[in-house]
Parts: sequence; C-alpha cells; structure tokens
Amino acid sequence: MSEQIGFLEQAVTALPGIGPKRAQTLKKLGLNSVSDVLFSFPRSYKDFTQVAQPFEAVPGEEQLIEGTLINLRERAISGGRRLIQGQLQAGEWFLSPLNLTWFIFHRGRGPSYLYRRLAQAGPLWVYGTVKEGIFGPEMASPEFFLKRPPLGLRPVYPLAASITNEQRIQWVQAALKHLEEVAECLPDGLLRKYPGRREALRQIHFPQNWAQQKLARERLVFEEFFLFHLGLQWGREEKAGIAHQADGPLITGYLEGLPFSLTRDQRKALKDVAADMESRRRMRRLIQGEVGSGKTVVAEYACLKAVENKGQAAMMVPTEVLARQMVQRFKKSLKPLGVSVELLIGNMPPKEQKLVQRKLAEGAIDVVVGTHALIVEKVNFKHLTLAIVDEQHRFGVRQRLALLGKGDADLLVMSATPIPRSLALTAYGDLDTTEIRELPRGRQRVDTRLIDPDKREDVYRYLVGRVKRGQQAFVVFPLVEESEHLDLKAAVQEMEDLEQGFLSSLRVGLVHGQMGKEKEKIMEAFYRQEIDVLIATTVIEVGMDVPNATVMVIENAERFGLAQLHQLRGRVGRGQEAGICFLIAYNLSAQSRERLNVIRHSNDGFYIAEQDLRLRGPGDLLGVRQSGQPWFKLGDIVEDLELLKKSGREVSLLLQKDPRLENHPQLLKEIKRQRN
Ligand code: ADP
Ligand code: MG
Repeated sequence: MSEQIGFLEQAVTALPGIGPKRAQTLKKLGLNSVSDVLFSFPRSYKDFTQVAQPFEAVPGEEQLIEGTLINLRERAISGGRRLIQGQLQAGEWFLSPLNLTWFIFHRGRGPSYLYRRLAQAGPLWVYGTVKEGIFGPEMASPEFFLKRPPLGLRPVYPLAASITNEQRIQWVQAALKHLEEVAECLPDGLLRKYPGRREALRQIHFPQNWAQQKLARERLVFEEFFLFHLGLQWGREEKAGIAHQADGPLITGYLEGLPFSLTRDQRKALKDVAADMESRRRMRRLIQGEVGSGKTVVAEYACLKAVENKGQAAMMVPTEVLARQMVQRFKKSLKPLGVSVELLIGNMPPKEQKLVQRKLAEGAIDVVVGTHALIVEKVNFKHLTLAIVDEQHRFGVRQRLALLGKGDADLLVMSATPIPRSLALTAYGDLDTTEIRELPRGRQRVDTRLIDPDKREDVYRYLVGRVKRGQQAFVVFPLVEESEHLDLKAAVQEMEDLEQGFLSSLRVGLVHGQMGKEKEKIMEAFYRQEIDVLIATTVIEVGMDVPNATVMVIENAERFGLAQLHQLRGRVGRGQEAGICFLIAYNLSAQSRERLNVIRHSNDGFYIAEQDLRLRGPGDLLGVRQSGQPWFKLGDIVEDLELLKKSGREVSLLLQKDPRLENHPQLLKEIKRQRN
C-alpha cells in the first residue's frame, strides 16, 4: 500500500512553472522537494513596512514610495537602448515629485513593453534606493508595482541562475498553503515566548515587521541547533564504562618521576580524566591545548590508568612520523615503569606487523601507538579500555568510532587547535572538554615579523645564515585545497624556484600533501637533520617536533587562517634557541593587515582563534574547508551562541528523561531524516 504523500514531500515540479529543466537548476541549489523550498530561507529582506510619499524621499535610503506617475516618456539612446523617464507625484502639484528612470534594451519600433505597462498605471508603487539627482531626488530602475504590494518585509532569496526572486516568492507562497503538513517537532513548553513551527515558517518568509522576523528566526535557529545537538547526543552508547580504581603505585611512581612540576591546567586535566575514568560512565573527553602545552602527560596518565586496571590503551595519530615520535616518548617514560609499548603503522615489515597484532590480541602489549593501521579489521585487542585520538580533526568522527569499536573503551581526544567555545560546541558537541591554556614555563615566544615582498631576499639571506650556524628552517607555501591541480602545480614551481635560487647552497627537502610515502621519508630526514630546510605546503602543520628548527618563513601569509599560522609557527623555537617567524604578505588589504597584526602581537592560541572566527568565519578554523558553505542554514555560531548553548542543555535534559525518544516521535523522525 503506498502511503499518501503530502504536497511538501513532492518534488519541486509540483510547484507552478517548474518543469524538468528548471528542476535541474534547483537541484544544484539543493532544492529537490517542495519542503526544501519552504525550508530555504531569505537571505535578506526589503523593507515594505512603510509607504512614503514622493516628497518624503530621503537620498541614501531604500524606500517604498507611492504616487501617481506623470510625465512618462521614452526615447531611444545609443546601442538599441531606451531611456524611460517619469515622475512620481503625490496628490498636490506643489509637492516635490520623485524622478524615475529605467534603462532597457529594446530594438523594435514603437513603445517598449515596459513603457506600455507603466503607461497603464494609475497609482504606482516603486521600491529602490533614493539618490540625490540634479533635478531633485531620483530612483533608477526601481522595482515597481501596479497594485499596492503587501506591507511587511519582502523576502530576498539567494540568487541563482535564471531564477527570479519573484518566482521564489510565488513558490514559497504555494508551499505555505500546505503548512498544515508541517508538524511541530520541539518538545512542548520549551519555547513559550516563540511562535510555533508553522507560524515561524510563515513569518520568516513574510514577516510583518522586524520584531516578528527576529522571533521567527530565533525559533528556527533554535530548532536547527536543537536537532544538531540531538543528532550528536542521541544514541550515544548508554553502555556503562569501567569504574577505574583510584590512582595506584604505578601512577604515583610516574607522577613523582616527572622532571617538572605540572602546570595548573595540566593538573586540572588529570583530575578531569581521573574523574571520568573512575566513574561508571564512559569517558568522552576532548583535551584542547596548543602545541607545547603538555598534553602528552595527560595521555600518558590515562594510559597508565588503563594499564593499572588491567586494560590496554591505543593511541591513534594522523601520520607515521608522529607515531614514531610518540612511541619513542612513550617508551622513554613508560617502559621504565614496566609498561610495554609498541608501534603499529602500515609502513613496517609485514612480519613485524603480524607480531604486534598477535601480541595485542594476546594482551602482551599494554600500550600501542599507531596510525589508522590501528583500525583495520585484522587488529584485535585482548581488552582495549582506552582509545586516545590525537589531532582529531584529521580523522573525523568515523575513525574515532572505529577505534572505539575495538573494545569497550573510554575515549580521550587531543586537539592542538585551540578553538573557541562556540566552535567546540559544534565540532565536538558530543564531547566534554578540558582546555589547557597555560603553557609550561620557559617556553619562549616566537618573534613574528610581517615582511614586504621586496625584503624577501633579506629574509632568505638571514635564513641561510642561521642554517650555516647549524640550525634548521621551514618554508611554508599556502595550498589550501591540496586537490586543486593548478594551484598545486604553481606552488611546486615556486618551491622549486626557491630551492634552486636563494636556498641553492643548502640541503633542501620539498614536501606536499599529494606525495604519499616519499613525504614521510623526507620529513624523517629533516627530523634526523639530514636536511636543512623543509619547504612544504601546510602538511607540516601537524605535530612535527624538531627542536633544532628555529626559522620559519611563511609565503603568502595573508592566505592562511590565523589559527593555522599560529599552529605553524609553533613548530620553531622548541629547543634552546628562540624561534623567528617571517610572514611574507603579497596582497595586504586592510583586513588582512588587521588579522596578521593579531598574530604578531598575541601568543594566546585561544584568543587568536576567537579573532580568526570573528574575522573569517568558522570554515577555515578547523582546517575543514567548507567551500563557502556555512555550518548551519540559518544559525550563526557566533551571533547565536546563546541559543546554541541553550539548545545543547535542553537536549541533554530531554535525553535524560527520554533517552530513546519514545515520547517524541516527531523528533525521532527528524533525526532519522537528518542521518539519511
Ligand atoms: P603537546 O603534546 O601539548 O604539544 P608536549 O606534551 O609534547 O606538548 O609538551 C611539550 C614539551 O614540554 C615537552 O618537552 C614536555 O616534556 C614539556 N613539558 C610538559 N609539561 C611541562 C611542565 N609542566 N613544565 C615544563 N615542561 C613541560
Ligand atoms: Mg602532542
């Protein structure tokens, strides 16, 4: 039996004037069904809340003005064009009129269609920007109406090829006739002062005034955020975690053996992790702290806690270089305590790989560090109780879950990209967060300079000088979209020019994101100081730790996000010598100057990230390029932060009361639709 499908569920072709061809165009805009059209909101509005008289025209303002059209005339000007002129007048002749002009193409003889339509007008309403003309106020090519348009705010939809705003308005109006098919989805009583879902939909398209628009928008933004949070939180496993014992001798020994005393933020992080792991709930925690803030201690602590409670721990990092570095560090600090640590990466002899896999399955390895080689099917653990994922945004949620799926594990995510609260809420809405803001004492700040291109040679001469004294350097080229072929070619060309030019006297390695295995080899060589200068696209951003590197040159710095720049410069000056970072900017607008000044003057990753969010929006911040696509259709994670937080809280409350959404079938439906 086929169910009766509502009008809103039907394809856009159900709307007036949409055939297969136009449906194709709409599809590109993401509009497939009538409901998509209804849920695609205006970009802005024209203010039709007030009607002015011609003598009330104010230059510089956008106004809706009514009057009688007089002195209408049309004349041909060059190139088959016509100029139509007229005046809009209020009742009395002595009140000053508004001058109107339209330019159109019209090649035929006789009066144009536009002229003929205007000539029929009795009263006329025009909308546009008033300008100060020689003969008084005027309006050029205004939108006009022969009948009084409905008062209120008139929606303006995102423009798309060959589709007019007028058509969009008609389609929305047609869809709104079937509003009864839209079901309320938010729980009762949640938003008392806001309109219901149907009213909000009507009002966001055709609000009577700004106050109404604001409420309708907030209602729908809340709904959008609410469903987003629900999607993240719903179905979060309710399986109990392991209630770990309080710290035993293994951990106490480790903490006492540390060569430094912990910072306050590190102590707080250990406390959070301890509380999570000792509770019966599963840990799902994000530790955010920039490079060098000392997250490794937290990871080691969590590993030991797992081991002390007879479990295994696995740490997944994004690259093989990082895996090697990390395993060395773990071995150094954990082995003396009798904890076995091994490496598992794709690029190791199959025999060794098999051996590690076998030992993991037998429980002969306590802690394993690896790349996604850890999450392939063949890998089984005896008793995995802790999964650590480092530099999470390189993996994404799916890999995170794959690692978790290897056991009944607690999860610890480490991110070196400090992100503002609002973004953390969206990107990691399903995780509890701990921030490590304070850097260990003695970390030197990187001297950061903004350089004009004509000083480029000096910069490289300085770099060569430093290298001659035994230090190493990075040169970074922007290549945001590593898959863009042309862009890549250009970058590689520039990199090669540099290699053969300014840097020809040095040992230079060149890496970019599309290189595969070769890349890791070069990075290893740099790590072992067999290469002096590493020229790279942003691939080095992730966790390279080379204490001997002291100089960084960033070409086209204006094309990077601030958070990214901050992350990059964190690669130098990690050893004895202070680091220096040159930002070479080629196209410096006032705004880019402001941005780059933020980075010159601040060293606080969280502050920088907040500024970046303010100046550039969220897309670039996470390193996930969203091709201009905002995170939310309607909501703005900066402007609507309060709603974002409130919706998150409400979702938690709801799920406490009704974890399976048995009493909220409509929400369940929305969530399932979202996941499809
Ligand atoms: P992250 O992983 O956050 O980038 P690390 O854990 O690698 O940072 O720490 C960076 C460096 O700082 C390491 O050499 C580490 O030994 C050192 N370190 C960590 N915590 C402290 C501390 N509290 N005091 C001094 N040095 C520390
Ligand atoms: Mg680290």
